[in-house]
Amino acid sequence: MEKVLEAITDIESECSSCSSKVCSSCDSAPADIKPSNLFSRREFGRTILTASAGVMLAGCSKSSKETGETGKTETSAPGLSSELAVVQKSKGPIMTTLEEFYKMGPGPSSSHTMGPMRITYDFFQRISKLPTDQLKKATGLKVHLFGSLSATGKGHGTDRASLAGLLGKAPATCPPQFLDGLAANPNQEYKVTIGPANLNLTLKDIIFDATKGEFHHPNTMTAKLLAGDETLYELEYYSVGGGFIEWKGYKQPDKGQPKYPFSHAKELKKYLIDDKIPLAKLLLENEMSISGKSEKDIYEFLDQVAEVMLRGVDTGLKVESVLPGPIKLHSKAAEMQRNLKNTSKGIAGRAITQVASYGFAMGEENARGHIIVTAPTAGSAGIIPAVTKSLYDLKIPVQKIREGFLASAAIGYLCKHNATLSGAEGGCQAEVGVGSSMGAAMIAEALGEGPKVVSNAAESALEHHLGMTCDPVAGYVQVPCIERCAYGAVKAWTAYCIASEENPEERRVDLDTTIDAMALTAKEMNNKYKETSEGGLAVSVVLC
Ligand code: SF4
Repeated sequence: MEKVLEAITDIESECSSCSSKVCSSCDSAPADIKPSNLFSRREFGRTILTASAGVMLAGCSKSSKETGETGKTETSAPGLSSELAVVQKSKGPIMTTLEEFYKMGPGPSSSHTMGPMRITYDFFQRISKLPTDQLKKATGLKVHLFGSLSATGKGHGTDRASLAGLLGKAPATCPPQFLDGLAANPNQEYKVTIGPANLNLTLKDIIFDATKGEFHHPNTMTAKLLAGDETLYELEYYSVGGGFIEWKGYKQPDKGQPKYPFSHAKELKKYLIDDKIPLAKLLLENEMSISGKSEKDIYEFLDQVAEVMLRGVDTGLKVESVLPGPIKLHSKAAEMQRNLKNTSKGIAGRAITQVASYGFAMGEENARGHIIVTAPTAGSAGIIPAVTKSLYDLKIPVQKIREGFLASAAIGYLCKHNATLSGAEGGCQAEVGVGSSMGAAMIAEALGEGPKVVSNAAESALEHHLGMTCDPVAGYVQVPCIERCAYGAVKAWTAYCIASEENPEERRVDLDTTIDAMALTAKEMNNKYKETSEGGLAVSVVLC
């Protein structure tokens, strides 16, 4: 344990600016980044969450039960998704894939920011494949935002995310400076070359269109390739929540059957303990059989996830700014890192500060609208990056980190399958609680623990988030969300330390029981505490 603490805290040696041992982008984050967009989660939540009922993965995308014309939220009879295990008891095995779970793109909203950028990047890729003689005629590109995307998109940075995708910037790798530049210079023209076509685009090419109408989905947008007034190519898209996108004529991709079907931890543990199949191997085999991908493709994807997370933490540790929105919240990660160099907090204080600063760093990057990975959601996106970074501090081999990601996904899948990952459905226990539980499993797996310790660590972290409500101040994913990411990461380490030191046979609560408890708590939680900003901190904190 002491070695772990020392290794985590011994980080100021290799890079004088960010204290990272794995940073590869020291020049990437100017200190004066000043994001200008305002992101209102409350507006977003009230408008879109109801309609995103089919979306389940990345949280913050499902409805609390709104009533009729007033838009007021019922507080006595929470609306529950049919996907909650307490509602729908009989389901097949877990079929979720890694790409559905770990989604990369700009924060702070998976449906209003990440989804639109994925849509316009998809459109960019489609038109890049059009015949040359068609592209030769092209004079412009336009995107029309409808419904909730139009109503609340400005506050979520939907326009800049959409423009970035149209300009061919991949959601997973778009530099934060580029996104900030788009917002800071709304009239600037940007050139994009698509085959023989050289087009000039501005934010004005992203049009906030009708907010009401007969839309296929409340988050509808169309993208057009134009030749003057003539439309050369057009496609209607839907940002269906959680970063997922669909389009007119979309068909769900075919999936194979898992090699080792399971829907609860007890079935999973049977494979691991009775059949002695390592957890990471089981997850990998299932991923290959469900998605049809090769081991190499899966590891490449996980490496990219880790890279995006580490880049986000490194950027967040260097940038100091007042975060967008009415709270005027000042970032903390960089200051914590600076102070750490001269701290006299001792080993425990240094370790906790270090891990917490990583959680702050990525949580603040999400609030800035920079690139994040849903793990499991955007609001809880700081936890797994903090854990990943602290594992890199320990010089854990890349393969073990990959195995940690697989273990982490297993916990997220179980929680999604048997409870919920949505703050709007289950409060913050479903977002930060699950993220912390995933983090605990990741640490245990990466450090070579057996399946009982991995499961106990995950259980412990989740157990101590049960009942945690979702009450974001002013509807922004900042207070309490960012600090909760820091706590979630520290609690992940705490849970791992307890589980790895106790006799694993003596733990009296198993993971399935705690996931069931989370689902029941979600069912009974007052709707005021389900991302409506109508209870808790959201009403106690008065903004001046
Ligand atoms: S309080 Fe928790 S669940 Fe709610 S938005 Fe923030 S991170 Fe998500």
